[in-house]
Amino acid sequence: FINLVSERDIEKEREREMEVMRVLHMNKGNGETSYAKNSVVQSNIISLGRRVMDEALKKLMMSNSEISSIGIADLGCSSGPNSLMSISNIIDTIHNLCPDLDRPDPELRISLNDLPSNDFNSIFASLPEFYYRLNKRDNNNKEGLGFSHGGGESCFVSAVPGSFYGRLFPRRSLHFVHSSSSLHWLSKVPCGEVEKEDGVVMTGDFDNRGKIYISKTSSKCAHKAYALQFQTDFSVFLRSRSEELVPGGRMVLSFLGRSSADPTTEESCYQWELLAQALMSMANEGIIEEEKIDAFNAPYYAASSEELKMAIEEEGSFSIDRLEISPIDWEGGIITEDSYDPVRSRPEAVASGRRVAKTIRAVVEPMLEPIFGQNVMDELFERYANIVGEYFYVNSPRYAIVILSLVKMGCSCYD
Ligand code: SAH
Repeated sequence: FINLVSERDIEKEREREMEVMRVLHMNKGNGETSYAKNSVVQSNIISLGRRVMDEALKKLMMSNSEISSIGIADLGCSSGPNSLMSISNIIDTIHNLCPDLDRPDPELRISLNDLPSNDFNSIFASLPEFYYRLNKRDNNNKEGLGFSHGGGESCFVSAVPGSFYGRLFPRRSLHFVHSSSSLHWLSKVPCGEVEKEDGVVMTGDFDNRGKIYISKTSSKCAHKAYALQFQTDFSVFLRSRSEELVPGGRMVLSFLGRSSADPTTEESCYQWELLAQALMSMANEGIIEEEKIDAFNAPYYAASSEELKMAIEEEGSFSIDRLEISPIDWEGGIITEDSYDPVRSRPEAVASGRRVAKTIRAVVEPMLEPIFGQNVMDELFERYANIVGEYFYVNSPRYAIVILSLVKMGCSCYD
């Protein structure tokens, strides 16, 4: 009996994971609502992490002066202009470091990863132009061998579809892993322990009425379930990468997190809070069903630095070189020490609301559409834009961006 129950549980877990894989992709194509046209916030996050990434690459190159072929992976690459932006930055940095380190350019084996539903074909279509630009730049700077249309002799790009919450690459085949704006996505929607009326504790959906993520009104059970799912996922991520990276290999990861222990502060969850308000306003007018909102929870988690440190320490394969948390505003504006909160006129606040709603729509529409229907999406994001606009009139909301630089421990000399 116990075996039967656990087998059923495993099957249910797998189904939850498959469900997320089906709906977790950004809006495809090049249209008005596409991720390609609405990913400025994420591109600014890539820029925000650049200093830490360049530093990690420099340390990697200095401690591996003899390697002539470097394995690099960008995890959660999506499609659109950002997909090649990270690897382009990595190539530039390595290319610029080599003369300083007095060494020849190494061969770069670059893998782009995302879930199988990602639009890899559009990335492939943009590769010839990408190689052409690399080739041109290289030939401007140097005589001799460089990049060519087909990938040339220095840079080989390939794609690896699959979940980064599991193994993707052969053992010890990577030297550098990069990931931006992806690790806040969970492998599945968390479920918690729910006490039924007869006192029996079962695994199931926790009560999160009228909300779609952790919120001030969510139960402790919801908080716990989310934190636990993140802990489990992040450990699997670290374990998988620790197999794939060489000792001394490095990872630079940037994603949405939080700077306080409380998961219900504005920076941790308000984009979801306001989206839930838009959904509830439609439910109140009978346009969508309230039960569907109650049953939906986002496969997302904004982790705190304490949670990250704990997971990294517990897993044990990586040491932390840097862990920074930087604020950016909801439109992607990088906030420095001299930044001040702007006072917005109402039309400015409304315009900000529209831009933010487009950014969020490009990311979450594929997961909301199957539940609430394609026909209500315009209305939903119109309402969301207005709610966010009102919020902007009196607030200057921010995300907290975690930038994490990790080194794979261990010494290759005993291998
Ligand atoms: N790095 C890009 C894209 C960020 S969007 C940028 O900075 O613009 C987040 C991407 O992570 C999405 O394309 C999503 O499909 C991907 N993603 C989420 N969970 C994933 C997982 N478990 N494995 C691989 N990719 C994942």
